[in-house]
Amino acid sequence: MTAQEANASFTLTARQELRLECPNGKPVTIRLEEGTAEVFGTELGRGRSVCVTGQKVAVFTWDGCRVSVQGEPSVRYVADDTPMTSYLNVHQTLNQRREEAAKAAPGSAACRGPAVVVVGPTDSGKSTLCRLLGNWAVRSGWQPTFVDLDVGQGTITVPGCLSAVPLEVPVDIEEGFIADLPIVFYFGHSSPMENPTLFKALADKLSALLQRRAVTDPRVAASGLIINTFGWVDGLGYELQKHVIQTFQCDVVLVMEQDRLYAQLQQDLKASCPRTTILKLAKSGGAVKREGDERRSAREQRVREYFYGTPRTPLQPATQTIRAADLAVYRIGSGPRAPNTALPLGAVSLADPLRLQNLPPSLEQLQCLLAVSHASTPDQILNANVAGFVLVKDVDTARGLVTVTAPAAGPLPGRYLLVGSLRSSID
Ligand code: ADP
Repeated sequence: MTAQEANASFTLTARQELRLECPNGKPVTIRLEEGTAEVFGTELGRGRSVCVTGQKVAVFTWDGCRVSVQGEPSVRYVADDTPMTSYLNVHQTLNQRREEAAKAAPGSAACRGPAVVVVGPTDSGKSTLCRLLGNWAVRSGWQPTFVDLDVGQGTITVPGCLSAVPLEVPVDIEEGFIADLPIVFYFGHSSPMENPTLFKALADKLSALLQRRAVTDPRVAASGLIINTFGWVDGLGYELQKHVIQTFQCDVVLVMEQDRLYAQLQQDLKASCPRTTILKLAKSGGAVKREGDERRSAREQRVREYFYGTPRTPLQPATQTIRAADLAVYRIGSGPRAPNTALPLGAVSLADPLRLQNLPPSLEQLQCLLAVSHASTPDQILNANVAGFVLVKDVDTARGLVTVTAPAAGPLPGRYLLVGSLRSSID
């Protein structure tokens, strides 16, 4: 790319979008010069530059605009054909339901705003649609709760979690979700396949906790939920998707692109959730497939940001050595399970997917991402959400010492730590 091309200006007409793929480590600066535009529902301020790296984004305009782009995105083009109008129609319907919920008698079931879940295969644009719907809702004065069940990516916190956060401001284009006090349950793996029973149990706990919170804040209750799911939609994955729809009592299911999934859900939810509306939506042509290593490096990037922050908001992680006797590391489930069908007739697998196992300090825990549980006794661990995460940097089994990195200095907020299969190679 020539120096001239590294600094370009684009004039977009109404409902066009400029799609940019900005590689990691090569910042691209976007500036709105004229008109109005938004990035996945967050408005761009006129004359203010935003710097994007390691993201694929679209600058969309409802009425036309001119934007300048500095830097070297690996891909950049203007698209005329977007599904934004159909997404906006969904948003408007949700807003009507929020209005109705806000007017309902206090304490009645009708006070609960729409619980929307987005389902579909990996890279079909689920997270992006959740972000659009969340941002538009916030800009209309609501405070929807964003629930992220996509354990493979993690938009609210590190991957491997089921988490929720009330949205009070639009998502920051550079920094992503700014979640001061998210509710987080640690699953510990990058796919629900690793322990479906635990995934279901944590989804149930998160849903129950959100219901209790909604009772205390009518505005939050009327704003409803926007739930992002994982891309595993076949076999057991499909069963888990149905479990999510039931446990969060979803009344709107948005299916990205897949006719088969749409037909299957229509058929299956008819009896169990007769009042649920199921809508099929087109995938954006901008939602692009990420290869396995790209997903892995995105996960690694999320972990790095958790400990080190972002260029605009850096954190100073602190490493400390703790006596192993002052900590207790637990794993939920007992490793790989033999299916009951593989056992002799009449025998059942002893491997309990919800069994708590206390692990002694060992070198196997090196570079593992551990969650610090809010539990104050081991029997609370399964029911407790987590306060934050640490990364194991060293284990001295002879002296009984464990060295961990945390995002800030100071004592850990709890002594019970949860381990799964997630590791990170960051320093
Ligand atoms: P999913 O959640 O289904 O896996 P995502 O919403 O994460 O899919 O989308 C996949 C990728 O495509 C992401 O990198 C996202 O930023 C990008 N993307 C989605 N929509 C657009 C668009 N309209 N223009 C450019 N990139 C997009």
